[in-house]
Amino acid sequence: MRSIPEIDINRLKDIIVQAERPLIITHYNPDGDAIGSSLGFYHYLVKKGKEPIVVAPNDYPEFLHWMPGNDKVIVYKRNCGTVHNALRDADVIFALDFNDPDRTEGLETYLKDAPGKKVLIDHHPDPGDFADLMFSYTYYSSTAELVYHIIESLSDDKLIDSIIAECLYTGIMTDTGSFNYNSSNPFTYYVVSKLIELGVDKDKIYWNIYDNYSADRMRLLGYCMHKKMEVFPEYHTAFISISQDELKEFNFKPGDSEGFVNYPLSIKGIRFTAIFIEKEKHVKISFRSKGKFSTNKFAEKHFNGGGHINASGGNSNESLADTLEKFRNLLPNYKNDLNDSL
Ligand code: 5GP
Ligand code: MN
Repeated sequence: MRSIPEIDINRLKDIIVQAERPLIITHYNPDGDAIGSSLGFYHYLVKKGKEPIVVAPNDYPEFLHWMPGNDKVIVYKRNCGTVHNALRDADVIFALDFNDPDRTEGLETYLKDAPGKKVLIDHHPDPGDFADLMFSYTYYSSTAELVYHIIESLSDDKLIDSIIAECLYTGIMTDTGSFNYNSSNPFTYYVVSKLIELGVDKDKIYWNIYDNYSADRMRLLGYCMHKKMEVFPEYHTAFISISQDELKEFNFKPGDSEGFVNYPLSIKGIRFTAIFIEKEKHVKISFRSKGKFSTNKFAEKHFNGGGHINASGGNSNESLADTLEKFRNLLPNYKNDLNDSL
């Protein structure tokens, strides 16, 4: 286990004690870890006698709405004025599960210029220099796991109840793909065992997240696998693309394509996958890999993105067709890296 420096824990302790108007903010397109860690930390601060505001930059999938405290989350895209004011008025801002203000897409200047103290709690590499106090550790599977460790380091583990535990477990489960990747660290299982001891019903959480899809999503998945997947065995790579028209045809809702990018990794020999989704003004891309191939470096270099080694994302302002062509043309440059990546 990696211990967090006592000096940082003591500073955090003081910040929490003194906080009068704390605010928790997470990243754009929030995932299970973004919402799970934010709400877990929210419930913890409530137990410390605080009334934190929780902000998500935009809407997130319905399969995350069951989480306790979901009704407290203010979605910026639907409440711009409220969030601008809240950021201006907050005396402490906790930034959870992202490493740079630009991951809040639209709130970056408001966040950077906000007068409150900023505390970063995150597990992504290469944090930007915007926080007064940083808990930035790639060692943890998820921000939720890190939040558990921080609360324990604050000697407040007695305050973790089944509600906080549910939120944190959700973050760990989703960021490891149900303990499929990013989950070889024994500490993760120490935290999981503590959370289960506190009454987390892990099967129920799994069902809430993964068995809660619409029929449209399953049909879109089938269509993507059948018609929209390109496989390049010589580069150990496969990708999927979806156009706006196709999204409409399948009544696309946020979250419907969650996890699609992982499926081609199940093909024998495939180690690098991508999904390209045409948005109104850009193409959103997700990358995944098995082994040593650094998708985050690839995303950063070619598609204005970043993330973790095995799971990252990026964007393209070119058309979907041009973006796919660019990706196909890049693959030969990575042939050796991909061959040697396991
Ligand atoms: P997903 O593919 O699930 O949207 O994102 C996987 C991971 O990639 C996220 O945890 C996040 O760290 C990172 N990521 C996704 N999109 C972007 C992006 O546009 N920019 C950066 N820097 N990271 C991204
Ligand atoms: Mn995360």
